[in-house]
Amino acid sequence: MLKNLFDKLWYSERGTVIAVVAISMTVLIGFAAMVVDIGRLAAARQSLVNAVDAAAMAGAREFAVNPGTDPSARESAARQQALACAQSNGIAESDLTVNIMNNKVSVDATRNVSYMFAPVLGLESGQAAAHAAASAGSLVSYKGVAPLCIREQLFAYDTLYTIKFGSPDSQGNFGALALGGRGSRTYRDNLINGFQEPVHQGEVLDTEPGNMSGPTDGIDERLNRCTDGCTYDHFKPGCPRVLIIPLHREDSLEGRDTITVTGFAAFFIDRSSQCASDEIKGYFVRMAGEGDIDVNTPPTTLYGVKLVE
Ligand SMILES: [Zn+2]
Repeated sequence: MLKNLFDKLWYSERGTVIAVVAISMTVLIGFAAMVVDIGRLAAARQSLVNAVDAAAMAGAREFAVNPGTDPSARESAARQQALACAQSNGIAESDLTVNIMNNKVSVDATRNVSYMFAPVLGLESGQAAAHAAASAGSLVSYKGVAPLCIREQLFAYDTLYTIKFGSPDSQGNFGALALGGRGSRTYRDNLINGFQEPVHQGEVLDTEPGNMSGPTDGIDERLNRCTDGCTYDHFKPGCPRVLIIPLHREDSLEGRDTITVTGFAAFFIDRSSQCASDEIKGYFVRMAGEGDIDVNTPPTTLYGVKLVE
């Protein structure tokens, strides 16, 4: 019908101008349609990018916190997490590929977008695609550490530890760190909120000499801030009951001394057994934090996950 109209316009004497106008309008409408549909395609791609990023991170996080299990179980758990995360973001399983290789979880997804206007130009739909990969490895920096340090050792999981304030070079003791300045106020702030600058592996930190009147005060504040009923084997990411403690290998520390950070341990504070002011009870836990990672270094209790692609 449109063709008939054009034919008539072409062959009518006065039709040339009308034809030019009609063709111009068709072209304009076509461009407008493309702009709208390209916008829709771009929006679909952005939401897909966000979804695959989240899925890759979820997979890598799962991969990181299961270092003990056998490789195939670990991979399949990571795959399940990535799939579940992608699906909760609206990606159909059939549009999704998850690959796991060398600590790296790769996620690819596609989504068909039906065009609203472009069918005028004979285009029915377009496809948005996105790719992301996240790796798990040992964390080499962390923002939010507690102003405490513990000598590096083999930590047992599912075991209640009592770490005592004292000479931090003996096993089972922790020492205080002066992060961002000395004094009990800074120490208390850091204990409650975590030190707000990243601490790196290999970094030299000052110890805080003397007994900082016990950490109980700040520890109680942290305990009160957790309102999710977390337990050491089931806690929410970012739970305030988890302290991230820098590790060191120094043999003897006296007064104002320094340590070189060799890694980080995650420690879940246990509420029920909290008692003396110079000790903290809790469990060392496996946890995945976000920060710079080294995929080649054997991880401590604190794994890192990072988007790498
Ligand atoms: Zn919590």
